[in-house]
Amino acid sequence: TRSPTASAGMEPAAHVLVFPWPLQGHINCMHHLATALLDAGLHVTFLHTHHNLRRLATKPAPALSQPRLRLLSIPDGLPEDHPRSVAHLNDLMDSMRTTGSAAYRALLLASSSNKDGHPPVTCVIADGVMAFAVDVAEEVGVPAIAFRTASACSFLTYLSVRRLVELGEFPFPSDQPVSGVPGMEGFLRRRDLPRAPRPAGSATDDCGVDPMLLNMGECTVHSGEARALILNTSASMEGPALAQIAPHMRDVFSVGPLHVAAGTGTKSTAPTASLWREDDGCMAWLDGQQDRSVVYVSLGSLTVISEEQLAEFLSGLAATGYAFLWVLRPDMVAGGTTTSLAAVKTLVGEKQARVVHWAPQRDVLRHPAVGCFLTHAGWNSTLEAAYEGVPMVCWTFFGDQLINSRFVDTVWRTGVDIKDVCDKAVVEKAVREAMESAEIRAAAQAMARQLRLDVADGGSSSSEIKRLVAFIRDLL
Ligand code: UDP
Repeated sequence: TRSPTASAGMEPAAHVLVFPWPLQGHINCMHHLATALLDAGLHVTFLHTHHNLRRLATKPAPALSQPRLRLLSIPDGLPEDHPRSVAHLNDLMDSMRTTGSAAYRALLLASSSNKDGHPPVTCVIADGVMAFAVDVAEEVGVPAIAFRTASACSFLTYLSVRRLVELGEFPFPSDQPVSGVPGMEGFLRRRDLPRAPRPAGSATDDCGVDPMLLNMGECTVHSGEARALILNTSASMEGPALAQIAPHMRDVFSVGPLHVAAGTGTKSTAPTASLWREDDGCMAWLDGQQDRSVVYVSLGSLTVISEEQLAEFLSGLAATGYAFLWVLRPDMVAGGTTTSLAAVKTLVGEKQARVVHWAPQRDVLRHPAVGCFLTHAGWNSTLEAAYEGVPMVCWTFFGDQLINSRFVDTVWRTGVDIKDVCDKAVVEKAVREAMESAEIRAAAQAMARQLRLDVADGGSSSSEIKRLVAFIRDLL
């Protein structure tokens, strides 16, 4: 319905508008995808919210800068002083669906002709969490592809939400087996199913069928309406789940892990799109530690824990005797981080522990001093650890993390899943196991070797990126 004009000569130019759900994990992942598209010669408009673009702008260097790229932003519809924290995700979803959606529609309409040296937008890649972004694009005549930044195993589980509810298997946390997710009958338990975020320190069995989870289920089904689905995963890691998903989608591209697939496969070439300022002072501290002697602890960008939980983690880590590098975001501990920092100092001191607000995580995981990763099993973190062959200890907070951690423990055997148990003895035992088990380390390293093959030239993910670029060009 549109006839894009050429940006140079007579050749029509493919121009993709990349629109992430405005949270750190989603931005990172779609940022890597944008880098891959730019590398392939496409034009990219990366769409932030005004709020996030302002936060990024405080970075010393521009996150991405090159002539075929433009960064634009739309309002997210929330007041500037709104916390935008995990407890308020529904506010963000509602305001993006209304104010955000209207601004996005206007922006797409305005992008139908050449502007500021950029050709018209010819395709949208929208975060599948925002079903409206696919619908609006198609309504104004721009073909839309859905991108889900989570694992294929969690996508498949969300795809099965209706069935899980019918079977009464969702979401009660217990060890009972789940039969409603195809291909996972042998090992998935009810406590591995996605859960809504819970207030810090709350009991683990207080979750009902949360509307947010039902909504995620609906969004996931809706991705079948898009021209295709992109997942940040690789066939070697998640072949069985990908095979189950494929019949429900028009096409599926498995292009991960994107933080390396965007480059040569030997190092991370994509710059970060961090909303926090990274403290890279911890790299020198790591240089002073012996190989595989440090536990890296990070619970991602959204997790909130109570002071009691912090104390359990801390005591468990201290008891292992291993040094640890801890990411303690300013908004991570309910009640503030001042007492938490004092607690770390009292219990272990500078020699055993280093605390930062935000770490250059991919560099940390690549450092030889890191022996294991205590993580919330967010999908980006899981992929980053997998690519570096670092064993994991998973303590999960919400959403897809609960499934990812089960796969880490039971399917890939690259780590230990403590799920939602925050107890110092459990933490100590799991960390020791991840640091010391030759079996876990061997599985983690084998996975890392395979992922390197996947993203290298001719590998499955690298071929999928090429197929995706051709698919986008064919939309012209
Ligand atoms: N991250 C980082 N520094 C930190 C903690 C996290 O750069 O100190 C990055 C991490 O590398 C990952 C992202 O933040 O790319 C977190 O995404 P993930 O999907 O793991 O979890 P979420 O934050 O969405 O819960």
